Amino acid sequence: MSLRAVKGMKDILPDEISKWHRLETAFRQRVERYGFREVRFPIVEPTALFVRSIGETTDIVEKEMYTFTDRGEKSLTLRPEGTASAVRAYVQHSIQAKEPVTKWYYLGPMYRRERPAKGRYRQFYQAGIEVFGDPGPYVDAEVIDMVVGFISSLGITDVEVLVGSIGGPRTRERYRDALLTYLAPHRAELCSDCQRRMDANPLRVLDCKVPRCAEIAAEAPSMLQYLTDDDRAHFEGLQEALTLLGTPYRVEGSLVRGLDYYTRTLFEVLGKGEGLGAQNALLGGGRYDQMVESLGGPDTPAIGFAMGLERLLMAMPDEGAGSHVDVFIVAAQPEVRAQAALLGRELRDAGLRVESDLRGGSLKSQLRRADKMNARIAMILGESEVEQGVVQLKDLREQTQEQVPRPQAADRARALLQT
Ligand code: ATP
Ligand code: MG
Repeated sequence: MSLRAVKGMKDILPDEISKWHRLETAFRQRVERYGFREVRFPIVEPTALFVRSIGETTDIVEKEMYTFTDRGEKSLTLRPEGTASAVRAYVQHSIQAKEPVTKWYYLGPMYRRERPAKGRYRQFYQAGIEVFGDPGPYVDAEVIDMVVGFISSLGITDVEVLVGSIGGPRTRERYRDALLTYLAPHRAELCSDCQRRMDANPLRVLDCKVPRCAEIAAEAPSMLQYLTDDDRAHFEGLQEALTLLGTPYRVEGSLVRGLDYYTRTLFEVLGKGEGLGAQNALLGGGRYDQMVESLGGPDTPAIGFAMGLERLLMAMPDEGAGSHVDVFIVAAQPEVRAQAALLGRELRDAGLRVESDLRGGSLKSQLRRADKMNARIAMILGESEVEQGVVQLKDLREQTQEQVPRPQAADRARALLQT
């Protein structure tokens, strides 16, 4: 049997890549306008990093990590998300000593051994940001506003922005008690995982995907009623700022996310349009004010989000078929193929994207390839053109042809491409 890609992992072929480039470029441009700078982390990290930050009783750590032993020595894991690595790098390089506020962004593949489905893969791509050193809530509002604006700039208009707060440690303690009181009479109805979670980490019950558990979770008391005064003031500050910015949002009292490290602000953006299916969470984020310290750094507040690129691509409207070729060079006789390569280099040096078929097929078959590649222009070069120092420039869209002196060929092509 021939070898195939690992289940849940996909090739991204050149025909799809222009949409990826468009998305990635738009993301970089958007976040750089806000002062974020790119950071790149290793794909493999010590397993303990994720266990300690994401949380031992989360689905990611319990079921989804690709963990292996490196030659019988150290336990390593393919990164399931970016925030833990960002915090590790922030602490490792003592970034807090260099600047009071740090704004980083990243793009790259993540790995989770989930059940593959539409919009759910085992290798998928995330783009995310992290802000270290600002306790919010104004920066929280700013990053939410930034990402909502970004998504709408992609042409994704049908979205819902959910915001909530899970407060700090004191709020969580109070809420935990209330939640346990509520869950106790339902214990037998919960799945076995949730029964275990009730003892280990009751908040995780709220994130269970088993239908009956989700029904019970839906009726649970809202976290927002248990916020301490400070946590409530923070959440109100966030909402005031979002309102001032004109960012549409809905308060969702039962927002819990699949990672344990969050404190205070939580948010999610859901895509409502068709095409996404059940996996409609475009991004998730929140504040994690304790994580830097818990990984050995100084007490540093932080907030971030991560977006799933495959899901954004599914929600983005298609744009007309583009082309990766501006000019296709046609060699009218096999004898001028070296000349065609030279012309190609001249045009490429002038910044044009140029293709040719140097195998030496018929004029017709070369023009057919130019069409197939959706090239706008064909430049035909034969022995007499070479002698006269000209090319026949054919506009394949307008179906017009003109003879152009070779030194002007690039400029003429560029002018046509602009029309
Ligand atoms: P979900 O509820 O869909 O499982 P999540 O809460 O696990 O999402 P996060 O860990 O917050 O997601 O990751 C942020 C974003 O990354 C998600 O909103 C989603 O767009 C994307 N994402 C997460 N897991 C996958 C996956 N297995 N395949 C594709 N995209 C994913
Ligand atoms: Mg998940």
